[in-house]
Amino acid sequence: MRSSLRLGRIFGIPISVHLTFLLFIVFLGMVYAFHGGPKAALAGVSFILALFVSVTIHELGHSLVARRFGVKVNGIILLPIGGVSQMDDMPEQPGREFLIAVAGPATSVVLGLVLGIASLLLYGPAATFKTTVTAGLFLPNLARVNLLLAIFNLLPGFPMDGGRIFRAALAHAMPFDRATAIAASVGRVFAIGLGMVGLFFNIWLTFIAVFIYFGASSEANRVKIKTTLHDVPVSRVMAATFQTLSPDDRVSLAVEHAYHGFQEDFPVVADDKVVGVLMKPDILAALHEHGTGALVSRVMRTEFTTVTADQTLEQVYAAIQTCGCTSLPVLDSGRIVGLVTLEALGRYLVYAGAGSGANRT
Ligand code: ZN
Repeated sequence: MRSSLRLGRIFGIPISVHLTFLLFIVFLGMVYAFHGGPKAALAGVSFILALFVSVTIHELGHSLVARRFGVKVNGIILLPIGGVSQMDDMPEQPGREFLIAVAGPATSVVLGLVLGIASLLLYGPAATFKTTVTAGLFLPNLARVNLLLAIFNLLPGFPMDGGRIFRAALAHAMPFDRATAIAASVGRVFAIGLGMVGLFFNIWLTFIAVFIYFGASSEANRVKIKTTLHDVPVSRVMAATFQTLSPDDRVSLAVEHAYHGFQEDFPVVADDKVVGVLMKPDILAALHEHGTGALVSRVMRTEFTTVTADQTLEQVYAAIQTCGCTSLPVLDSGRIVGLVTLEALGRYLVYAGAGSGANRT
């Protein structure tokens, strides 16, 4: 994500902060300064930074448990409404998803209790239980905020932990995609309710509700795509008739092929082996920089991903997302036998999705 700033690594996990989080800190700093002057602003901002550390620890709770289950953790990103652990693929075993989801709030509760006990020992019960967040002592406030963080994350909607915990609980009794659909619907209904309550009481709640509403939709979509593509072999949608280029061809030939057919990505083949790929953006860049006469070998990508016909469309989808490409050559014992495109995946999703709708009614 380019809209975020990398801070460093903890336990080998990259930590970054989303720019909106920085804006949030500036905004709160200004609010504090407006109400209490520079001293209050300093206290306020240092409190927010402590909160930021708390959120990081919460996310580390998720990430470390996930890593124990062999899930690759790509990083932790901090947003104004909380953190997100970016993981490769969450396990679809409900028990594991449950533990990973619970780990965050559990970490926050432990941290809140430890800070609370420290505050009791240092300041006594009167100061510790004073119920203001914007004024009062640093330590008891931080303890309270960590407990609030746990409660907030337990709200029952994606992408909050509560949504995942809810889905994991449902998934014990039904298939994963059905559990996701139900958890997403409940999350949406909850978000609409929270959004309306927010309009009357606190606009931040409405902001969070919008986040939960769209989070529900995107998680439901993600799982629907995964489930639809799960067991389908590449051979089902690959194009077996397609144009290839030779490294000695000119880019103008790719343009001609594009004019006369539907193909805009081309495998480059020499001696029966794929030696490169030339995709639409490469063709456009080559035309812009060198004109139509450029040699294919000069402008093709030499690092590319391939698949075999018996791999699944789910794997193709994941590969396409990581390589940032729009098609993959399909190989059989090293020789190219087909081409699978993002467009073909999209078509499959549309037709298969329409079909599954008919089955349900
Ligand atoms: Zn969490």
